[in-house]
Amino acid sequence: MSQMKTQRPMPKLPVDERIKGFREVALGYTVEDALAEAERCLQCKVPRCVEGCPVGVDIPKFIRSIKERDFKKALEIIRERNSLPAICGRVCPQEDQCMGRCVLGSKGEPINIGALERFAADQEDRRKSSMPKLAPKTGKKVAVVGSGPAGLTAAAELAKMGHEVTIFEALHVPGGVLTYGIPEFRLPKQIVKAEVEYVESLGVKIETNVIIGKVIKLNELFEMGFDAVFIGSGAGLPTFLGVPGENLNGIYSANEFLIRINMMKAYEFPRYDTPVKSGKKTVVVGGGNVAMDAARCALRLGGDVTLIYRRTEELMPARREEVINAKEEGVKFIFLATPTRFIGDEKGWVRKVECVRIGLGEPDETGRRRPVTIPGSEFTIDAEVVIIAIGQRPNPLAVRGEERIKVTPNGTIVADQETGETEMPRVFAAGDIVTGDATVISAIGGGKRAAKAIHEYLSRKG
Ligand code: FAD
Ligand code: SF4
Ligand code: SF4
Repeated sequence: MSQMKTQRPMPKLPVDERIKGFREVALGYTVEDALAEAERCLQCKVPRCVEGCPVGVDIPKFIRSIKERDFKKALEIIRERNSLPAICGRVCPQEDQCMGRCVLGSKGEPINIGALERFAADQEDRRKSSMPKLAPKTGKKVAVVGSGPAGLTAAAELAKMGHEVTIFEALHVPGGVLTYGIPEFRLPKQIVKAEVEYVESLGVKIETNVIIGKVIKLNELFEMGFDAVFIGSGAGLPTFLGVPGENLNGIYSANEFLIRINMMKAYEFPRYDTPVKSGKKTVVVGGGNVAMDAARCALRLGGDVTLIYRRTEELMPARREEVINAKEEGVKFIFLATPTRFIGDEKGWVRKVECVRIGLGEPDETGRRRPVTIPGSEFTIDAEVVIIAIGQRPNPLAVRGEERIKVTPNGTIVADQETGETEMPRVFAAGDIVTGDATVISAIGGGKRAAKAIHEYLSRKG
């Protein structure tokens, strides 16, 4: 393979330093790295990478600007399609999206598009530039429920179009999963804060500690003078296995565990004494990004961490890079197994996890082979802490009591996939609350499309 075909590696914090704390693991490209990686891009006439990006970032164009050392321009090009580039560059599942489609990947190594996107965004953080032009004020007011990627994107887009936007957020800090879920070592809080500040700099107001559906009913937002409402309230309800012993002490949902770490600053231990139990032996159940984040957080709090996943390593939905990082840091993996019950001590604390081995049967509706338990293959492992990370469900609290909005049995709001329109006039929705547990970039895409539809509706209304 020629030198040209080799991807510039992402500089990373050494493993022994990583596990001592919560510092960011991927350090980001230097200028030299970014120029070398940008140089490899073929500037394809029909760029397959763009087809792989859910929001259609003009990838060859921004890479060309990096190559020409015009980093400000590179960021402007990305921001035309994606209002949260420093975040997406860090957490998008690029191997399944833009990078997975790069033509160079078929014969050698694809362009590390995420690393270049992050590079362009991080340059701007230092220079504080690149403000878009705002349209003249329309006098129309839009309420946005939730400040995750869907809400922040919808709010930013609507503000750019001249509307007056207020975000209502249930928690005391904005950012949604970006703040309360994804840990500091993967997405520093400072980066999320900077992106939230960018959205505020467009004129968007953010009101925290307001639960729509409880403190303010959906319908009351219209009485307060809003002309349209966007719901981006995410998927924050944990899912459990439903096996005996799951209510023992020491067993957490990944949501609860990660919220304690992120919102109560356990990542700044020992300075902050957060009520989160760390054990000599922690078991994490699941194979997605959430499971990987929980396992790596538990490892940093001390002790031995084992992750149990019911399928094979190749079928894990987590970002590949994070699986590699977890392994490097010492997380142990048991594949093709699932817990059947949790065994506690006389004081009600979990002590052991009984598991059963799994074989893979016929493919299910997702195309992945269905896990089938192997009778008589039970085994137990010791555990003082167990974290269940097998998925989240939407919480349709925001629309509680509002019969004009349809909610599926899974808790998702029924809305047009393209426009986000719900059954209730003037109410739009997108992100995890509509799709179920998905990705940051799909929430951004949904928020962006809904903002366009809201703008069209408000313009028609006159
Ligand atoms: P959210 O980010 O969930 O934001 C919803 C917001 O609405 C929250 O702040 C919530 O407090 C607020 N809210 C809810 N109800 C109300 C109400 N009634 N009133 C007011 N506010 C309300 N995706 C990736 O692409 N890459 C990753 O690496 C990745 N890692 C992840 C790791 C973890 C631990 C988790 C949990 C998810 C991860 N995801 C990842 C998924 C991704 O974060 C979500 O798909 C995305 O955040 C969804 O965005 P959203 O805006 O729809 O909702
Ligand atoms: Fe790739 Fe995500 Fe950037 Fe799109 S937004 S180009 S998928 S990193
Ligand atoms: Fe560059 Fe790859 Fe996109 Fe072609 S497919 S333009 S080589 S990033």
